[in-house]
Amino acid sequence: MQFIDLKSQYKRIKDLVNENLQAVLESGQYIMGAEVAKLETMLSAYVGVAHCLTCSSGTDALLIPLMAWGIGRGDAVFTSPFTFIATAEVISLLGATPIFVDIEKDSFNIDPELLEKEIEKVKKEGKLTPKAIIPVDLFGLCADYEKISNIAKKHGLFVLEDAAQSFGATQNGKKSCSFGRAAATSFFPAKPLGCYGDGGAIFTDESELFETMKSIRVHGQGSDKYENVRIGLNGRLDTMQAAVLLAKMTIFDEEIELRNAVANRYNELLSGKFAVPKIPSGNRSVWAQYSILAESEEHRQSILNKLKENGIPTAIYYPTPLHLQKAYSFLNYRQGDFPISEDIAKRIFSLPMHPYLTEKEQNTICELMI
Ligand SMILES: *Cc1c(COP(=O)(O)O)cnc(C)c1O
Repeated sequence: MQFIDLKSQYKRIKDLVNENLQAVLESGQYIMGAEVAKLETMLSAYVGVAHCLTCSSGTDALLIPLMAWGIGRGDAVFTSPFTFIATAEVISLLGATPIFVDIEKDSFNIDPELLEKEIEKVKKEGKLTPKAIIPVDLFGLCADYEKISNIAKKHGLFVLEDAAQSFGATQNGKKSCSFGRAAATSFFPAKPLGCYGDGGAIFTDESELFETMKSIRVHGQGSDKYENVRIGLNGRLDTMQAAVLLAKMTIFDEEIELRNAVANRYNELLSGKFAVPKIPSGNRSVWAQYSILAESEEHRQSILNKLKENGIPTAIYYPTPLHLQKAYSFLNYRQGDFPISEDIAKRIFSLPMHPYLTEKEQNTICELMI
């Protein structure tokens, strides 16, 4: 059994992927070929925003907007401690300070009430300037953007949606990647929309921001290649990856349906025995992961052992919240600072989740667990 079955997916779209890749090979346009622009047009229309800028990874997709906003030393950027390291890493790379805010126990996303308290606390202390919020749409479910936008507006902060796990999700009729002043997604192979290497994209409705980010993507270029007007990156998506994504988009909506069917079957089989995911009304998740809670760390270990003995792969996202990672010891957070994240980190685990998981496989998994 596969945790994420990319091979079955490839089999489905093999002819189209191969054809698209062949066309790139023959075109010789390996960097910024026609497929890149075509993909950007397709994705911005899909999300319903004015601009899409593809880039080299989800991490760079988070970094580039922060660079465009001039975020740096002395600035505070608020985010969740219960996420992949990249979310906070980009803040630190720019010399700014990540300020962690605990999560809601049901959605695993940043808690808007705690967020506002933390912003007020940082303002009162006066050491750092609050600049931005990076809510994470964990496991494919959008954070609470209505509340977060109101807080951002009130305090004059940028919102950057970390949509690395949620491309294709919806909230109150709007698509993931349309929230905030900019949104970042990842095309890492295991994400809901993945390519065959590293890749990412940034979305925004703001033309000026888009132009600045476009310049940052290629070494801060000005009106021509060898005019450099700012410090930038080598942050392009390569043409081959765009060609793969164009093929994957032909089945993406159907795959979202299939992922939801898989999640619903898990919910039916496991509810009552486990705390199954709760999707707040108005939301549709893309189920980047199907994650549930055991009663305790020991309970989790016994389930994971049993599944492993039977050849069923599992994963823990995330075993250590970021404030307790060695890389962030310099921020001087302590055990107990974010009790919800810490408790969930001890009990959470993820089951195989992909569009091609069969009912039979799900029955096998769940029978072993209960
Ligand atoms: C995967 C991921 C990223 C980083 O994306 P890469 O493409 O691997 O650089 C950022 N944030 C979250 C929440 C992620 O899951």
